[in-house]
Amino acid sequence: MQSIDASVIEAIEFAANQHLGQFRKGRKQSAYINHPIQVMGVLIRHRENDSGLLKAAALHDVIEDTAKTREELEDLSQTIESEFGKEVLKVVHEVSDDKNLPFLERKRLQIINTPQLSPHAKKIKIADKTCNIMDMMNDPPTQWSTERKVEYLRWAEQVIQGARGVNPALEAYFDQILGQARRQFTQKNPE
Ligand code: NDP
Ligand code: ZN
Repeated sequence: MQSIDASVIEAIEFAANQHLGQFRKGRKQSAYINHPIQVMGVLIRHRENDSGLLKAAALHDVIEDTAKTREELEDLSQTIESEFGKEVLKVVHEVSDDKNLPFLERKRLQIINTPQLSPHAKKIKIADKTCNIMDMMNDPPTQWSTERKVEYLRWAEQVIQGARGVNPALEAYFDQILGQARRQFTQKNPE
């Protein structure tokens, strides 16, 4: 059996503390930390065992969802760097949206910036979008219309187009989940 680097567990503990009191957007109000753990699971099941990658996956939403001001962003970045290293911090930054930008601009930037990301950041993007689409099928954000879900799928597909070429099996899994969601959301309701 392969051993797990203790620092990977420390990254989960750190993320759990940062996301404390935060919940996913579905009706189940699932604790936020379940999502990065799920992303790590998708990576591991697709033979992605690198501890730097897994630490960045554990921390992938920490900056975006817990640092509001520039000062908080700098403090958090410094802590991540000192506890988990420069490389992990770099990847977490690569996969973080700037929440100060308008919604549509953030979505546009993900499409145009993803092709330039590092392989680790691309793998996290693919696993992240896969998990979000799974959540959208199992416990969707409350208030989301079918149109908004379908629009999310269209956008996620465009983002992931720019992340391909890093792990064919992981990419095929994304395609499978995307297809499943498309069928679910476009299925006619029974009369
Ligand atoms: P979205 O509103 O598109 O929400 C999708 C993101 O929510 C996912 O990528 C995922 O991101 C996260 N998420 C949390 N819970 C779930 C779940 N149960 N199922 C699927 N995804 C989930 O993007 P943002 O979160 O970036 O932006 C949100 C803000 O933008 C809100 O304030 C919204 O009201 C506002 N807005 C929306 C507009 C619209 O029409 N669509 C227009 C203008 C503003 P992650 O991996 O980061 O958790
Ligand atoms: Zn995420």
